[in-house]
Parts: sequence; structure tokens; C-alpha cells
Amino acid sequence: MFNLPSFRIGRFFGIPVEINTSWFIIFLLVAVTLTTSYFPATVEGLSSAVYILMGALTTLAFFGSVLLHEFAHSLVARAGGLTITRVTLFVFGGVSQMEEEPRSPGHEFVMASAGPGMSLVLAALLYIVAAFLDAAGAHDAVLACVDYLWIINLSLAIFNLLPGFPLDGGRVLRALLWGITGDLLRATRWASRMGQALGVALIATAVLGVLLWQTLDLIWLAVMGWFLSTLAASAYQQQLVRAQLARVPLERIMSSPAALVPAATTLEEMAHSYFLGGRHSRYPVVEDDRVVGLVDLRKANQVDRSLWPETTAGDVARHDLADIVALPTTSVDRILPKLDPNGPGAVLVVEDGRLAGIVTRADVIRLVRSIAEES
Ligand SMILES: [Zn+2]
Repeated sequence: MFNLPSFRIGRFFGIPVEINTSWFIIFLLVAVTLTTSYFPATVEGLSSAVYILMGALTTLAFFGSVLLHEFAHSLVARAGGLTITRVTLFVFGGVSQMEEEPRSPGHEFVMASAGPGMSLVLAALLYIVAAFLDAAGAHDAVLACVDYLWIINLSLAIFNLLPGFPLDGGRVLRALLWGITGDLLRATRWASRMGQALGVALIATAVLGVLLWQTLDLIWLAVMGWFLSTLAASAYQQQLVRAQLARVPLERIMSSPAALVPAATTLEEMAHSYFLGGRHSRYPVVEDDRVVGLVDLRKANQVDRSLWPETTAGDVARHDLADIVALPTTSVDRILPKLDPNGPGAVLVVEDGRLAGIVTRADVIRLVRSIAEES
């Protein structure tokens, strides 16, 4: 499900926002339910065009509410010094993708509370707006939309505050356990067990609904519960691997680069002597023995072929060195975001300006596999 593609819709506060295909399921479900049953039952006797308009506007506002919730997390995380790569909306709500884990229990606590806090503030504001509109004699159709929105924001806050990891409430719980025990891994284990237990409880409630009350209304709880317990179990596994990767320095898994490319080499020469028939698609570029970047077949291909004889490897190599360079003592968990297939894809291990080795995605996958086999 989480392998479904995502679409970028824009940037807010400098953070790219993506919508995962699974989000459309919820979006459609909300729009259809509002238009065909909720609004017609709440305000009777309107034309279907009005119900569709109410449904569409309210669904968009709901979508905006979830984004604001997610941005509250992201902006607090960023204020605490973490880099947010993107915000993605899933079927479950939103996920802020961060380059690293929060640095302290206190930071995680504030970060996790910010989202539900935002939803509660929105719920309160919308409630006040609804009261004003009511007093001013606004049309029932308008009131129904605003009422729905404060209730949905309140529900968002309450659901997310359930104390099971990886929900926000579970993160708050993890922060508290982490603060008390000083052990992030143990705190994650307990908080994700709570997540699994909560998932099972939600499924059980849905089953009881069918057996005792002969209703299918609670069946969505089973879906949520199933998601929650799956996510909780994998979140703990990820944390476990991360903790082990934190103990391995890059120098233990780096390999010596297949070849170094002098910065003055033209793309024409590179095509013949490096890329053509070579096993590698990325090479470190050096100038006077010092690393200046990484040249990548994909980037070379973006340059028009007629320019290859005069364009050098130095020209296309990434000069944003900070992004691709690490020290031999840096731990493997720190470079994971850089190995994203859409990113640089490799990290150059540099000591005193000289290349000591290279770490690629394949090296890390091999390490993760060997950790999994040991445990
Ligand atoms: Zn949240």
C-alpha cells in the first residue's frame, strides 16, 4: 500500500508536499459520504448541486486541516534543527519525512504534540465561528459545513492522541518513556507494543460491532487497526536496525572507489573509458588529489551530446560537497537519507580532503541484511 506512487503538489514554507495515491481513497470516501448522506440528512430539501458544492468545499477544507496538522509537526521539527525532506499525505493522514530522529525526548514531545495541538486549536476556532454564524442567522447549509469541520478537527486530534506508536500520542508516550529510561530503543519497543495492542483493540471493536450489534458501521475501525498494528511492528524493526547502524562507522563498510576521475576529463572521454561497459554509474571526481564531487551517468546524460567534447567531469560533478561527504568515523545511520534513489545515491568518505572510500546503497543493504541474519 505504501509503495503506491506519490504526486508532488507544491511547496509550503519551503517544504515539498506530496500526495500518496492511497490518500485519494479517503478523499473520495469523505466527499461521497458528505455529498450523498451526511449533508442531505443534516440539511434537508436542498438541490443536489448544492450538496455537491458543500461536499467538495468541506472535503477541501478537511484536506487543508490535515495539512495544517502536519505542518505544525514539520515546523516545530525544523525549529529544533531537523531537516524535513517532504510532507506526504497517506490514507492514514500525514507523514513528515525527516532526515534524522528527534535529538531529545523533550524535542520529540513538543514535535509530536504540535499536530494534535493544531487540530485542537482549529476545532476551537471553527466552533467559535459556527457560534457566531448561528447568532448572525447564517444559512443552515453554511452552518452544517462549519459544524462538520470543527467536529472532524476534534476527531483528528483525539484519534492521533491515542497512545500507540507511530501515532502522535504514541510518540508522546515514547518521549516520556525515553525521558524516564534514557533508552530510545526500549522506549520505542514499549510504545510500539502499545500501538500493536491498540490496533488489535480497534479490530476487536469492529468485530464486536458485527457480532453483538449487527452493524457494519464500525468496520473502518478494523482497517485503521490493521494499519496501526502493521505500522507499529515495522516502526520498531526500523528503530532496531537504526540503532545497530548507529554503532557501525563508515570506515567498516566503505569500499575503495573503482576509479577516480580527474576533474579535467571531458564527458566524451568519460563515455569511452568509464561509463561504457563499466559496472559503475557514479565516480568520484578529484582535482589535485582533493575530492571535488561525484559524477553521475544520469547527470552526464542531461548534457547535450554535442557539448560532451568540451564539458568536463568537474563541470557536472556535484559541487555541493557537504551533501555527499562524510568522515570515516560517521555512523551509517547518519547517511541513510543521502542514499535515497532520488538523491546523490552514494557518500564519499573523506579524510583531510582526500578520498578514503565510497559507500553506496548496495553496501548499506548488505550490512542491513547481515544484521537481520544475525538477529
Ligand atoms: Zn500528527
